[in-house]
Amino acid sequence: MPPLARVKANAPPFLWFGFLPQKPAMAKKTAALQRLAHPATVRAFQRRLISWYRAYGRDLPWRRTRDPYAILVSEVMLQQTQVQRAMLYYDKFLQRYPTVEELARADEGEVRETWEGLGYYARARNLQRTAQKIVAEHNGRFPKRPEELIVLPGIGQYTAGAMLSFAFRRDAAILDTNAARVLTRFFALPPEQQTTSFLWTVARQVTPSGQAHLFNQAIMDLGATTCVARTPRCSVCPLRPACRSVNGEQR
Ligand code: SF4
Repeated sequence: MPPLARVKANAPPFLWFGFLPQKPAMAKKTAALQRLAHPATVRAFQRRLISWYRAYGRDLPWRRTRDPYAILVSEVMLQQTQVQRAMLYYDKFLQRYPTVEELARADEGEVRETWEGLGYYARARNLQRTAQKIVAEHNGRFPKRPEELIVLPGIGQYTAGAMLSFAFRRDAAILDTNAARVLTRFFALPPEQQTTSFLWTVARQVTPSGQAHLFNQAIMDLGATTCVARTPRCSVCPLRPACRSVNGEQR
């Protein structure tokens, strides 16, 4: 899996995989991607998702800010917590620690106390360690390069992509379980292409240049509310006209 750094920030979406190293396994993957869908289908996928999101996207508090610190807090909370529950803690945490500097110098026991009820306390510990590193090593400013984000405690590929697209409006892809389900169903990916590695490559390919922040929220929302795990609500899905799972198309 190539690091996010290999994805040129302003590259057109269909060229993204062109920057990946052409080792034999990668060449095979690239060939599979080129067969993924006609560019018009991918454009329809992007357009339908984004216009649906503009009309029906969830109004969540962390979507009203571009403050990378607040977005990081929300993303770390959401790592193992449902949206509704995270909403109960998000404002409270930011009121107690409104800046990265305040979280960095806070007493660890108090941070734990503020986090109590969310569980998985290691997340709070990593969040504070990340805050301390940002203050100590980046002068309190969040780095905008994926390779600098991904080495911070508790920040993986997904969180780095979320930070880059939501806070910095970079053309970075994300992949969570909701997005993976939408991609798998829409493109009717066969089992051998449902690997995390391949799905990340698909996500990078279909993320539209200049609109990653909208597209990423849209695909996660559609997976959370419509293309749900057990009984997808295809009758109200904006992707239905082109969805290969619903239309029984084979690739
Ligand atoms: S049409 Fe159905 S299966 Fe296809 S993306 Fe929409 S909800 Fe998912």
